[in-house]
Amino acid sequence: MKAAIRLTLSVVVFASFTISATAQKSAILAGHLIDTATGVATPNQIILVERNPANGTSTILEIGSDVAIPQDAVVIDLSDKWVLGGLVDAHDHLGITYKEEPESWYYYMTIIMDSTPLRAIQSFSTGFQKLASGFTIVRDLGNNALYADTALRQAIEMGWVPGPTMINSGIIIGAFGGQLYETPEREDTVYPEYLNADTNDEIVKAIRRNIHYGAKVIKVCVDCQAYPYTTDQLKLFVSEAANAGQKVSGHVQTREGARRAIEAGLWSIDHDGALDPELHSMMKEKGVWRVGTETPHADWSRVSESRYERRVASLRDAYDQGVKLAFSTDADYFIRGMNRGELTIEFIKTWEDAGIPAPEILKIMTTNGYEISELEDRRGPLKVGFAADIIATTENPLEDINALRDVQFVMKDGQVFKSDGVVSSLSFFHNGPAYGWRKR
Ligand SMILES: [Zn+2]
Repeated sequence: MKAAIRLTLSVVVFASFTISATAQKSAILAGHLIDTATGVATPNQIILVERNPANGTSTILEIGSDVAIPQDAVVIDLSDKWVLGGLVDAHDHLGITYKEEPESWYYYMTIIMDSTPLRAIQSFSTGFQKLASGFTIVRDLGNNALYADTALRQAIEMGWVPGPTMINSGIIIGAFGGQLYETPEREDTVYPEYLNADTNDEIVKAIRRNIHYGAKVIKVCVDCQAYPYTTDQLKLFVSEAANAGQKVSGHVQTREGARRAIEAGLWSIDHDGALDPELHSMMKEKGVWRVGTETPHADWSRVSESRYERRVASLRDAYDQGVKLAFSTDADYFIRGMNRGELTIEFIKTWEDAGIPAPEILKIMTTNGYEISELEDRRGPLKVGFAADIIATTENPLEDINALRDVQFVMKDGQVFKSDGVVSSLSFFHNGPAYGWRKR
């Protein structure tokens, strides 16, 4: 209901935002500007932003209490708001949503029944919903059919559609069968959801194939079958990805798989099910990111309440041990009445249940997210020289993290996407540098 109202209103406000779409500069009057690294909020700051419409990039020119506002700048009044950089989801799948029917709850139905073009459109819709909730960066880690993720990333980068900055993985690489089960009659069932790679040559080929088709991070299914990758094979993943300047994220579901992945130096261990205090200690020592995808409600992922309690305790242990933590969701559930942005923000519940203080959760959702994403122009809280991905809330998220449930304002790369709680994204769409554009 809420979403429907917003979309109706967006048409009404379209006219008022066409002006800002073509403007070069915006001046944001921030009631409080939050430095998410330190948890300090500074009152009455002005953020001067420049957007380059030719290539869709943006730069923060100045921040301070006495910034001179140029005459041609559009003034955005957030003087009654708490202003900060955008949020990061370090693990989701934009091109998939579990079906509602209980019998087909699992994602196999999407994989079998939905085409890549349909899933590319779904990816756009999911990214749009997440951006509306303040998520300006998403690591999109596979299960997107035949590179629907790359298509969306390119469309966003060209300015065709609004969406978060994407770090996408292309097709998940796994040992024979991927995360599924082949049938002997149809040994290609897993494709294109997974790339089978068993030998070292196949691993190298699969990584190069993904990078060629636009992956920005490599995703490996470490131990999805009875024949997990060896530590040496995982090291090959790391070195081959590094050859192209990329990192490796590992889907991990067994303790032994996690141990091998940590030993091999993977960038992140994704999912928390196999992790324990000893592994957390290894991760801390090796500087491996914990991308726990901590589902907030037991019934969403059909686990018991005691499993949820273990999840919360494990997250708390990792926090106490000083493991590098990323806010991450796997928010591909279908929950009636909630869109994917609202679903994503719901994951703060687990972090609250773990007793982690609001400023720390906020830091993990922003600053840590920028670090794990390794984007040169977005590697910290808002500062001069960085891209202008800016959000604002009515209440102070440093005091109550639930303030993030009501993101009122979203600017993506210097362009207003949501204002006064209303998505105004029609001003976002333009033709973009389509011809001669060859960036992968
Ligand atoms: Zn996942």
